[in-house]
Amino acid sequence: MDFYIVLGVDRAASVSDVKRAYRRLARKYHPDINPGDREAEAFFLRVTEAYETLIDPDRRQDYDVNGGRHVGPPVGEVEFQGFDFSGITAARDESASTFGDLFADVFVNSAASRTSGTGGGGVDLHARVGVAFEEAMKGGERELTLTRVARCDVCGGSGVRRDVEVRCPECAGSGQLRWTRGHMVFSRQCVQCRGSGRRSQRPCGACRTEGVVSRTEVVVVPIPAGVIDGMRLRMARQGSAGSRGGEAGDLYVTVTVEPHPVFERDGDDLRLVVPIAVHEAALGARVEVPTVSGSATVRVPPGTQSGQRFRLRGRGAPSPQSGERGDLVVSVRIVLPRILDERSKELMREFGRVNSEDVRAELLG
Ligand SMILES: [Zn+2]
Ligand SMILES: [Zn+2]
Repeated sequence: MDFYIVLGVDRAASVSDVKRAYRRLARKYHPDINPGDREAEAFFLRVTEAYETLIDPDRRQDYDVNGGRHVGPPVGEVEFQGFDFSGITAARDESASTFGDLFADVFVNSAASRTSGTGGGGVDLHARVGVAFEEAMKGGERELTLTRVARCDVCGGSGVRRDVEVRCPECAGSGQLRWTRGHMVFSRQCVQCRGSGRRSQRPCGACRTEGVVSRTEVVVVPIPAGVIDGMRLRMARQGSAGSRGGEAGDLYVTVTVEPHPVFERDGDDLRLVVPIAVHEAALGARVEVPTVSGSATVRVPPGTQSGQRFRLRGRGAPSPQSGERGDLVVSVRIVLPRILDERSKELMREFGRVNSEDVRAELLG
């Protein structure tokens, strides 16, 4: 095993070259990123050994001269010289901050890559709610049940739980992990406690160190007064939570407004067709009409034609942006009575004789 080949650096590599190579490999092969992968663990061990050796000027020189044959004491096997990495613990103490920095980097990046690949940010969620026409006019709230990634309550999103300082369960307090493979005896610093043998925090079991859990929750969606059919409401940071403190995504709620049997929306105006009787159209009348906020009276002047429009200012729909109300536009439709009795028929004949002007004069020229 050539340390330079393991790290993929050349013999003239600087300390920062070595660090960079190590960081790159640690991101890929660290046991915490590849849980249960023995091959990755074994390779990571070699990478770590190479890094520990090449980062230390004395040991690097020794390695360059002696080819690393003196690294670690023999462990009592005749035909094979075992590796023992315990000798590097002392050197590690002085580079402890560097070591910690390297891993902080690894953990942040692995956490980010596991969620969405955009710096630990949570994903946006999309939902639909249907509201009745009246509800859309008044506004209100809607409860929405959705399953989203939420911050872990147990660890507050950090992925670790603070504990009273205890003996590290990973290494039983020794700060070292030892194992044999074939004739080789391995030992390395315990990653969990970084060689201290003591642990004051432990991985959060509730979220498996992700800092987030999947949870079904009720979200209250505020429905703005005057919401328009098909409108999309954005609820900032109400989407899925980001991993380990990463910013949450947004929740987008598309609102469907049920049509109303008589009111029709046109921008912020509402349209309403009002039937009026012949005599009301001819003689004029005060007609009571419904609005979305109680009834109103429309004054129909004498001689009103079918289809004529009247505008009731401020009786339309509220603007979802400004809250200002549009108008209610009333179109009248003249409805003839079903004339069956002789008296009514006679009156209509009489009416026709008195008003004998040609109503189609303009049409025929
Ligand atoms: Zn947790
Ligand atoms: Zn430990």
